[in-house]
Amino acid sequence: MNAHMTDIAGQQDVPFYRPVGNECTVFETAHANGLPLLLKGPTGCGKTRFVEHMAARLGRPLYTVACHDDLSAADLIGRYLLRGGETEWVDGPLTRAVREGAICYLDEVVEARKDVTVVLHPLTDNRRRLLIDRTGEELAAPSGFMLVASYNPGYQNILKRLKPSTRQRFLSIGFGFPDAATEIAVVTRESGLEENRVAPLVRLAGHVRTLSGMDLEEGISTRLLIYAATLIAGGMPLERALEVAVIEPLTDEADVQQALRDLIAVVY
Ligand code: ADP
Repeated sequence: MNAHMTDIAGQQDVPFYRPVGNECTVFETAHANGLPLLLKGPTGCGKTRFVEHMAARLGRPLYTVACHDDLSAADLIGRYLLRGGETEWVDGPLTRAVREGAICYLDEVVEARKDVTVVLHPLTDNRRRLLIDRTGEELAAPSGFMLVASYNPGYQNILKRLKPSTRQRFLSIGFGFPDAATEIAVVTRESGLEENRVAPLVRLAGHVRTLSGMDLEEGISTRLLIYAATLIAGGMPLERALEVAVIEPLTDEADVQQALRDLIAVVY
């Protein structure tokens, strides 16, 4: 996959990201003002790529943490480790990001354990401080530091919601699937498949997304379209590529799979 490198004049090594709206300006303004940012949207719609792109554009290091239900405050802040009979303090990714004035991206932040929010609160209001209770250290975040978090509102349930007291500390941008022209450009660029062969894939995605909520938990992500296009560009027959990159990843239900095959037959 031709994943990286951008067209931005004079800049190398900036991961390719095609803006959908004014999200780049919002990110830059948030960063300049030391405000945290929340990215809301379904999986595979470009949130991570957006953060990678913006961090490179702003020339800041990026620490990305994929949150899961066992992730605790200590995993973010750091812990004492035993090394050669000595205990030694080792910074976690959040602490490193604060020390270096980097961008810290907490992907799927709602998944993390409750004690994580306690750490985030003083960092996300005007104090901009990280308290390391184990060492007694208190770090003031330098101007380059920015906290970015993402969550997928589609996965929310009553137990795993972002509390208003947490969400209202962040500026928020809603991400959806891109419009067809943008998605065609992204999939073409990422997969190397010709645009006229990408267009029907994007059309298919549009149809499947209107079915979401009825039989499918979520529509086809841009990521899956890139997988399908990459397989097709590599010579895999269309039917096989759609089977492994679209139908099987989307659902386990035989009747829904058949409905998707019928839809594919109509689109192609
Ligand atoms: P998320 O973090 O929302 O789950 P990703 O950022 O990992 O999704 O996006 C999945 C893939 O889709 C990326 O690797 C990238 O190839 C592609 N992508 C999606 N949207 C865009 C976009 N606007 N510009 C460039 N690439 C995109």
